Amino acid sequence: MNDQLGLDNFDDTTAAVTPSLTRAAPLRARSASPLTRWRQGDRDEETRTAHLADLRARRNAAAARRLGPGTRTHVLREVAAGRGLPEVANALGVSTHAIHGLARVDASWRHDLNAALLAGRPADVPHGTPTGYRRHGCRCPECRVAQHHQDKPRRPRKRIRPAQTAPRVCECCGGPITASGPRRFCSPSCATRHAVHATCSCGGVPAPDTRR
Ligand SMILES: [Zn+2]
Ligand SMILES: [Zn+2]
Ligand SMILES: [Zn+2]
Repeated sequence: MNDQLGLDNFDDTTAAVTPSLTRAAPLRARSASPLTRWRQGDRDEETRTAHLADLRARRNAAAARRLGPGTRTHVLREVAAGRGLPEVANALGVSTHAIHGLARVDASWRHDLNAALLAGRPADVPHGTPTGYRRHGCRCPECRVAQHHQDKPRRPRKRIRPAQTAPRVCECCGGPITASGPRRFCSPSCATRHAVHATCSCGGVPAPDTRR
């Protein structure tokens, strides 16, 4: 594994086009959708929000198109076999951004990718620590969660609940649990999967190329 890519630092909101504030925004019919008004040059909070949502949706669709079923299966198999994700992505001519971007919007892909990353991660790395993420370049779910918590600005909180200080990972896919409160799974789909499949891939022996 290598260290060169901050795979989780991809933030698609910062990539947004800076609106041209110099262009005069003529009066528009209020019936036009915010997105239409953005395209016509209206720059306000509502149209900007619609524009960013549109950008995101189109980027997600593009990521899904680039990662066809064959490519996905290949990524999972290689990653589960221990090859680094950047290396695998490079060999397939897709970006790690596309792979992780899709994981943000596709719960099934997220589950399978996390399972593959867990299966293929090296044994001699302190997983679940920022060191694992930074020094060893590990992008397994536990290391990503640790790094995620590490990067949070340390603002003093009014109440610190002990249960929330430890990184929490989904019992099924190993992905980060971001919702508050006591939870075992990152998403309803993981909870369902876990309940339905008696031999869910998470059981310590992920079988990521078993597509469901
Ligand atoms: Zn790790
Ligand atoms: Zn499970
Ligand atoms: Zn999960």
